[in-house]
Amino acid sequence: MRVEYNFEQLQDCQCGACPVHDTSACVMEKTGGMKFTTCSSTPDPDDVEGIYCSFQKGKSSCTDLDVSKACLCPTCPVWRSHSLDTSYYCVKGAAS
Ligand code: SF4
Ligand code: SF4
Repeated sequence: MRVEYNFEQLQDCQCGACPVHDTSACVMEKTGGMKFTTCSSTPDPDDVEGIYCSFQKGKSSCTDLDVSKACLCPTCPVWRSHSLDTSYYCVKGAAS
C-alpha cells in the first residue's frame, strides 16, 4: 500500500533508532541526530531523514547506510497499518 508523508506518521517512524541509519555519517551530518532539520511542525520531506517508505520521500540521498544491519521497519506502526511486507526503504525507495 502506498504510504502518505505526514507528520503523524513521521512521528511513528522508527528510522531514527535504526542501526542502518545511526551509523551513517551523512545522515548524522544532515540531521544532527534529529528526525528533521527544521522547527516547522510540518517539515518538508527534503528536510527529513525518515519515513522513506512514503512516496513523497523515497530513498535517502545518503549513500553510506549500512545494510548489513537490521532494518527496523517491521517494528513500525506505519509498516503494520499499511500492510507493508518489504524493508530498507532508505536504500530501495518508497513502498509501492
Ligand atoms: S515503515 Fe520504515 S521507513 Fe516507513 S515510517 Fe516505518 S520505520 Fe520509517
Ligand atoms: S528504512 Fe528501514 S533500514 Fe532504512 S533507516 Fe528506516 S528502519 Fe532503518
